[in-house]
Amino acid sequence: EFGAIADLVRLHAQHTPDRPALADAQHTLDYRALDALMDRVAAALQRDGLRAGDAIAVCAASSVHYTAVFLGALRAGVAVAPLAPGSAPASLARMITDADARLLFTDASAAEVISAAKATGLPHIALDGSEVGRALDDWLAAPDARPEPVQTQPGWAFNIIYSSGTTGEPKGIVQGHGMRWSHIQRGAKYEYDSHTVTLLSTPLYSNTTLVVFFPTIAFGGCVVLMPKFDALAYLQLAEKHRVTHTMLVPVQYQRLMAHPRFDAHDLSTFRHKFSTSAPFNAALKADVLKRWPGGLVEFYGMTEGGGTCILEAHLNPTKLHTVGQPAPGSDIRLIDEEGNELPRDNLDAAGEVVGHSAGMMTGYHRQPEKTREAEWFDATGKRFIRTGDVGRFDADGFLTLFDRKKDMIISGGFNIYPSDLEAVVRGHAAVADVAVVGVPSEQWGETPVAFVVRREGDATTEDALLQWANAQVGKTQRLARLSFIDELPRSAIGKVLKRELRDLSA
Ligand code: ATP
Ligand code: MG
Repeated sequence: EFGAIADLVRLHAQHTPDRPALADAQHTLDYRALDALMDRVAAALQRDGLRAGDAIAVCAASSVHYTAVFLGALRAGVAVAPLAPGSAPASLARMITDADARLLFTDASAAEVISAAKATGLPHIALDGSEVGRALDDWLAAPDARPEPVQTQPGWAFNIIYSSGTTGEPKGIVQGHGMRWSHIQRGAKYEYDSHTVTLLSTPLYSNTTLVVFFPTIAFGGCVVLMPKFDALAYLQLAEKHRVTHTMLVPVQYQRLMAHPRFDAHDLSTFRHKFSTSAPFNAALKADVLKRWPGGLVEFYGMTEGGGTCILEAHLNPTKLHTVGQPAPGSDIRLIDEEGNELPRDNLDAAGEVVGHSAGMMTGYHRQPEKTREAEWFDATGKRFIRTGDVGRFDADGFLTLFDRKKDMIISGGFNIYPSDLEAVVRGHAAVADVAVVGVPSEQWGETPVAFVVRREGDATTEDALLQWANAQVGKTQRLARLSFIDELPRSAIGKVLKRELRDLSA
């Protein structure tokens, strides 16, 4: 049975009014205060003429007020487009127009969007008390204001997310209330309740963060927001707030596990840690399981919501190299280059992963062409979303992922998976991090090159490492080059930007 998130907050305000709901470094709101603030937001939006089906944009650092405005908009049936501060102004202006946002909420951290707002004449409201827009307090409806009640439907738009653009131009993905509800239902399994304290340090414009944010609130727990990740600050906050749940992307796990103070902090309050967004290597998962109390749950999926795989790592110690099994309600298949489905009993075959679930996007916002490219239908006409990822099932139904199709290297007619080569290179003690990309080659079409972050204090040379790695791979897989780099280029959500590495080698 469907429940609207704004109604769930109202229930918590009645039953557990004094329990904290949201906290950041400056503010804490309990459920009574959050519920009242949501009313003031919803009433102000209605006063400004916004109705169910309209949208607002938010482009700001994570904060209590950001999330209270998000929840308040949902109470009025208004969808939210959370945008990435730091995007190019032209790209922000495009997203604002594409989402048809009627108002923009921002803060001093988002200089780019403020100029975009001024250019488009969009009314903008400052969430942080800064001068970048009309003050939130001034815009909000009176403290005793009550919005006209709205009967939220599962099919209504909840948010519009602009996909991370790892592989190209951002595409608007409309996620509905029904999809969010399916994440909330899944949450029951992960022991969320009114004593949950979830620490989130990833940005709110990514689904990565939202898949944990909304279930925490739906179950009456508290979300502690950290606008910018820093390993030591994370450990200190986790201990101070007695954190029970968190979402971190693999590179954050890597930084935490490598931090010299990691073992000195008391993390015994943790019940579940989540991860998604990017490949999480098995050795790192094993290290997390060994040194950090509580469960470790990895999600594999996409914002488009085609289907999700879940790995409960703490329950499947022999499957850490996989991303787990299809989540309940997800149907995941593999297809070949021609779009033919690979037979399920063929365990040797890798193919493009396609997924079906109740939470699939209806399509990319205003891009029917791109939507059609992303769809795949089985023989019975069932609709799937293409992920662009290559994977293979094992005999127990666990999915191993290789790479994004776009990152696969075709060299002299052979397919090379960068992930295979990365695993080899990572095996050397000098290697802290590695990414392999294909670069054009006259002789082979494409040829693999590696970028390596060397462990601090290590003196291994590029040449020695290259020879060491090439001695372990087949002739057709050999790396043409290996270069040290200070840090791999990553998106704000921690995905390696292979595009940029390819440009570096061009
Ligand atoms: P764009 O589609 O704009 O290029 P994106 O694909 O990075 O951006 P998201 O929807 O945020 O946008 O990410 C989904 C992708 O992230 C998946 O297709 C997959 O490549 C990768 N991914 C997600 N979870 C995992 C995981 N657990 N392990 C490995 N890769 C993952
Ligand atoms: Mg994608």
